[in-house]
Amino acid sequence: MAGARKPGRNFLFVPGPTNTPDRILRAMHVAMEDHRSPDFPKLTLPLFEDMKKVFKTKDGQVFIYPSSGTGAWEAALTNTRSPGDKMVASRFGQFSHLWIDLATRHGLDVIVQEEEWGTGASPERIEEALRADKKHEIKGVMVVHNETATGVTSDVGAVRRAMDAAKHPALLYVDGVSSIASLDFRMDEWGVDLAITGSQKGLMLPAGLGIVCASPKALAAMKDAKCRKCYFDFTDHMKANPTGYFPYTPALPLLYGLRESLAVLQEEGLENVFARHHHLAEGARAAVKAWGLKPCAKEPKWNSDTVTAIMVPQGFNGADVIDRAYRRYNLALGAGLSQVAGKLFRIGHLGDLNELMLLGAIAGAEMAMRDVGIEVELGSGVGAAQAQFRGAAQAKEKKVAAE
Ligand SMILES: *Cc1c(COP(=O)(O)O)cnc(C)c1O
Repeated sequence: MAGARKPGRNFLFVPGPTNTPDRILRAMHVAMEDHRSPDFPKLTLPLFEDMKKVFKTKDGQVFIYPSSGTGAWEAALTNTRSPGDKMVASRFGQFSHLWIDLATRHGLDVIVQEEEWGTGASPERIEEALRADKKHEIKGVMVVHNETATGVTSDVGAVRRAMDAAKHPALLYVDGVSSIASLDFRMDEWGVDLAITGSQKGLMLPAGLGIVCASPKALAAMKDAKCRKCYFDFTDHMKANPTGYFPYTPALPLLYGLRESLAVLQEEGLENVFARHHHLAEGARAAVKAWGLKPCAKEPKWNSDTVTAIMVPQGFNGADVIDRAYRRYNLALGAGLSQVAGKLFRIGHLGDLNELMLLGAIAGAEMAMRDVGIEVELGSGVGAAQAQFRGAAQAKEKKVAAE
């Protein structure tokens, strides 16, 4: 049908799924094969080892499921917990809310610490709750490292220090779905017991893999865990994985994609990946400031380097901005969810991304905002981000020259 085609690239700036590099797309274009063949472990065994490097763990055990991130949430909880177990969880956005909901539906007794949306987990309040729990009835602390709904990153290292200060043996459960492989994440150093991620964010893959990494302490908790599980049972995977196999048919193209994704991350270098995300995020934040708008994150310490949530002025609807951006400019922005529905829109800046791509999204957001009547000056955000990027590039060149 004439007119139906949208020429050029779609600008995908939702915070997941993210852009998949062409070489990863090609790597997934494979003929199906026998997942019980003697050759199969050559593909799979290194995946477990290389994922451990991404989690930054020596002794953690990696589980790879054909599921989205939600399945990995469920796997982490059901394999280590029993109905009635007390958990402490901070709620400050739609993803922390959904994870708490999942835990509750599995019968866990979740003590919810409500934090203002736009802030994150409070190590002080967590410490207080743990100190008050003299009988050690609390079995786990649940933290969403990067709350994708509000663009807020919590300090997981500080949560660990709070747990240690309270001398409390609870396990630390961390949702790293929109942080792992894009923000600094240190499983061993932070004493994370269950780390959770999915394929469609920092790993730059389609959705379809849920990945959990469990510490030795988490594995030890399996023996008393009475939550119901079958599909996600660690035990079945622990029988099959050491020889490179899975208890059921794995998502073959995604495993080849993961192989390539891990190669891409290794080539760039994880620390460089984190630095790039910070650099891009600084550009996005410079644009928001130039527009005279406020991020949802209440203070700079909460700023996320993978997603920026932008509050629209009173009397405007963020959904209208997103609609204009999509229809007119082929730009996909993230929506405000639940409590912040209509109040903001989000620019995801994670995964395979560079400065000019992000400038395109900032330009499109600017036009869409003007289209709905928000008085931002055209070019102001783009100019501020350009200046940010150029300044950083010049500073880097100077540093290299001085060395
Ligand atoms: C995307 C995301 C999830 C998982 O969502 P799925 O759609 O199940 O993959 C969980 N937590 C956070 C913080 C996320 O950003």
